[in-house]
Amino acid sequence: MREMKKEREQLVEHLKNTGIITSPAVEKAMLSVRREMFVPEDHRQNAYADEPLPIPPFTGDQTISAPHTYPLFYQPLELMKGDGVLEIGTGSGYGAALAAEIVGQENVVTIENTKETVEFAKQNLEQAGYTEITVVHGDGSGGYPKKMPYKKIIVTASHEEIPPPLLNQLAGGGKLVFPRGPRWQSQDLVMIEKNRKKIKETFLGGVAYVPLKGEHGYKK
Ligand code: SAH
Repeated sequence: MREMKKEREQLVEHLKNTGIITSPAVEKAMLSVRREMFVPEDHRQNAYADEPLPIPPFTGDQTISAPHTYPLFYQPLELMKGDGVLEIGTGSGYGAALAAEIVGQENVVTIENTKETVEFAKQNLEQAGYTEITVVHGDGSGGYPKKMPYKKIIVTASHEEIPPPLLNQLAGGGKLVFPRGPRWQSQDLVMIEKNRKKIKETFLGGVAYVPLKGEHGYKK
C-alpha cells in the first residue's frame, strides 16, 4: 500500500490552520496513524478528505467518521498516557488506533456489535501494528464491565440519553463524550465529567452520528 504521508500531513496542516487541532498529542497521533489502512480499498484515494466513509457491511449504519471529529472528541477528553479508555463503536478501528497512540495500546478497549465491522476493524488494526488493543464483539450500549472503571469513555454512536451503565463504568474524575439527540438527525456532542457524584456537562458542537443499537440504545 502506498504510504500517503504527504496527504496525511496536508490534512493535519489544514485541521491546524482551521483551529480544529489544538493539542500537540492529537496532532502527533493523527500524523502517526495511517488512515488509508482503515478505509475500504475502493475509497483509499479519499482517505484524507475530511469526510466520513462507508465501511463493511456497507448498509449505512457504519462509517469511519470524518477526520475533524476525532480532535473534537479527544481534545476535551484530555487523553493522557496511561488513561483507561473505552470506545463504544469500533467501526474501522481508526479511532481506537488514535487513542492508543496517546494512552498506550494496552489501555484501550473498544467494542463493536456488528460482526462484519468488527472483523474489518481487527484486520485493519493488526495490519497497522495495533495488536495490543482489546477489541470486543458485543453490545457496547451496556459498556464493558470487565475492565471498568474507565478514565475516558468515547461513544461514537448517537442516543437520546447517555445509557446509565456507561456512566456507572466511568471512574471518579473521568470524562465521557457522546452525541446526544434524535436518530438520523443532527445531535449535540456533549462531554460529561463525573466528580464526587456531581455530573458536569459541556456542549462541544453539532455532529451527526449513526444510531446506537442494542439493549440501551434507541427503542424500536
Ligand atoms: N469509531 C469508529 C466510527 C464508528 S461508527 C471509527 O473510528 O471508525 C459507529 C459504530 O457504532 C458502528 O460501527 C456501529 O455498528 C456501532 N454500534 C452501534 N450500536 C452499537 C452497540 N450497541 N454496541 C457496539 N457498537 C455499536
